[in-house]
Amino acid sequence: MANPTDKAILFDASKCTGCRACQVACKNWNQRTYTRTDNNGTYENPLELTAQAWMRILFNEPEKRPASDDELYWYFTKYQCMHCTDATCVKVCPSGATKKYKVSDGDSEAWLVKTDPKQCIGCNYCVATCPFQACRYDEAEKAINRCVMCFDRITQDPEAFPTPEQASPDLAKAPDPVPTRNRPACVQTCTSGALDFGTREEMVAKAEERVAFLKKERGKQKAQVYGLDQVGGLHYIYVLEDDPALYGLPEKPSVPAGVAVWEALVKPGAPWGGLALVGLVAAAGVGYVINKRNEGLERAAGGGE
Ligand code: SF4
Ligand code: SF4
Ligand code: SF4
Repeated sequence: MANPTDKAILFDASKCTGCRACQVACKNWNQRTYTRTDNNGTYENPLELTAQAWMRILFNEPEKRPASDDELYWYFTKYQCMHCTDATCVKVCPSGATKKYKVSDGDSEAWLVKTDPKQCIGCNYCVATCPFQACRYDEAEKAINRCVMCFDRITQDPEAFPTPEQASPDLAKAPDPVPTRNRPACVQTCTSGALDFGTREEMVAKAEERVAFLKKERGKQKAQVYGLDQVGGLHYIYVLEDDPALYGLPEKPSVPAGVAVWEALVKPGAPWGGLALVGLVAAAGVGYVINKRNEGLERAAGGGE
């Protein structure tokens, strides 16, 4: 299970306005390029994560809108790599390029999933098996791309970032000044306070408090916290006002059965690798992984940005 002192991002869907400033900030900080896209009858853009778009805001339009709300209604979701505790991408990576990296900022630690482009062999197994379809291979860069939780920002010396007083005297006088230090770019930019960053324990506590508020004060009886247990616990914690499916989030993200076989028997360095049994037992699992890989590649090729 996830460590309570790990770093995590909180996304509160009940506060998100769909402004997509976080998307822009992510591209800006991580030096991703832009390409022209077509209007597909939705404000959602891009329609898929790509190697150049590591996160996107989903504009989920429900078939049946909540009775208490206006006719126009969206379930906004921030979607990207979830930094799973039991990350499938780490389990299947045959070259060891994708790993969990430990970072520390002095008072807490973070375990983030990151891929070393120098070690990546472009097999795309991580793309094919990710339960959230959240990573992409970029042919030009020869690298896997996904949210890295602004690894480089959150591990910087806090002194490198201005305090609220240094950033703006007006900001410093605000009743609840926005901290400016060591936060991921999307969190720093969020215009409505829908994003927060801290230890996982803190983010879960804030999420639970908000859910209690939504139930009591707003009558949202289906409000819930998402990300507590999925894939061993996510490092993105969500406050939802309704069922995860309405937000485009899988209630039980499925890890392909072949992944366990691959990790135990076939992957280079696997504990039982080399047994004659491998070929027979793993064939179905590996076939599944490869099929998923092809599906993933087709899916990735279809996205705009
Ligand atoms: S969401 Fe996918 S890419 Fe991200 S850590 Fe989980 S398995 Fe890996
Ligand atoms: S944490 Fe950084 S890389 Fe991840 S979505 Fe936010 S801005 Fe992008
Ligand atoms: S910046 Fe904040 S309010 Fe705007 S889309 Fe992103 S999470 Fe939602």
